[in-house]
Amino acid sequence: MVKSISVLGCTGSIGRQTIAVAEHTGIRVAALTANRKIDMLEEQARRLHPAFVAVYDEEAAKAFKIAVADTDIRVGSGMEGLIEAATLEESDCVVTAVSGSVGLKPTLAAIDEKKRIALANKETLVCAGDIVMARAKEKGAEIVPVDSEHSAVFQCLMGRGKGELKKILLTGSGGPFRGKARAELENVTPEQAVAHPNWSMGAKISVDSATMMNKGLEFIEAMHLFSVTPDDIQVVIHPQSVIHSMVELIDGTVIAQLGVPDMGLPIQLALTYPQRCPSMFSRLDFTSLKDLSFEAPDFEKTPCLKLAMDCARTGGTAPCVMSAANEVAVGLFLRRQLGYNRIYDAAASAVEKVGVVKAPALETILAADAAARAYVLENFSK
Ligand code: MG
Repeated sequence: MVKSISVLGCTGSIGRQTIAVAEHTGIRVAALTANRKIDMLEEQARRLHPAFVAVYDEEAAKAFKIAVADTDIRVGSGMEGLIEAATLEESDCVVTAVSGSVGLKPTLAAIDEKKRIALANKETLVCAGDIVMARAKEKGAEIVPVDSEHSAVFQCLMGRGKGELKKILLTGSGGPFRGKARAELENVTPEQAVAHPNWSMGAKISVDSATMMNKGLEFIEAMHLFSVTPDDIQVVIHPQSVIHSMVELIDGTVIAQLGVPDMGLPIQLALTYPQRCPSMFSRLDFTSLKDLSFEAPDFEKTPCLKLAMDCARTGGTAPCVMSAANEVAVGLFLRRQLGYNRIYDAAASAVEKVGVVKAPALETILAADAAARAYVLENFSK
């Protein structure tokens, strides 16, 4: 169990839940980072007394520094600040709850310091999975997934040899528009897209869940985390979100992890692993569970999932370009500057037009990420 953590992205949904878990389990919060929500950040900082706080946005950092001038909290800014928070000597674990590829460099810096990574930032593995996993292996840094599906697979594989795994059964609820054809979704609003039936999450990931791009990103994430190929992962639609994912072993046995759909559970396990602690979360009541149903994904209706699985097979910078393009497109959609169905168009078009580099170095990945963002802004914003 970790003693002291740095929370990157502390004002987001996962960041706030991480702080709640830390307070419940008595884990010290040594560093916080946020982008620009400094009111919430100040409230958190005054309550938790971290040694260091970084604000990514330079202007917001200046304002925050003035706001906490009466405390002894050190304040940093920009990427340098994020990296300092990720490598703070006092922290033995870094929770990467930032959204987007901004999480990549701090994660690598934390790995170099052999910190445990409680990984909640999908883009890190989607964009640079080969580099990040190789570095973690080389340095002996643990990566413990926070994403509920990957936490489930991680738990199902605990204590098992690599040779026992036949395939990963990655479950997904199908989101709020499950079964709907593309033509029916033409006029979907941001409010409709972020209303997830089971999970309460931030806006970006909620839209990704609606398009099922989220499951596609998780597919790529799972490949890297568990060193498997695309053929070793099967996506299964399970609308109730009670089973959080499963593994099939070589003898045909299937092991599943079940629980209430609350991100606090995988967050807590990522911090207390290999131990478990009593938690504050509600329990599954099997006598009130009605149906647990399962179906295959319909790729015609979920082209984003298909695109992500294709990019997983292509490899190189393809997943990064797709993910960055999707991130920008979702941002435009949330600001009502792009139609819902155009999110897929933007991501698919970026993969085609920006091009793919095989076996990229980190700088090539960051360049591909920037090129994909610029491409979508130029060609898809109204
Ligand atoms: Mg998930």
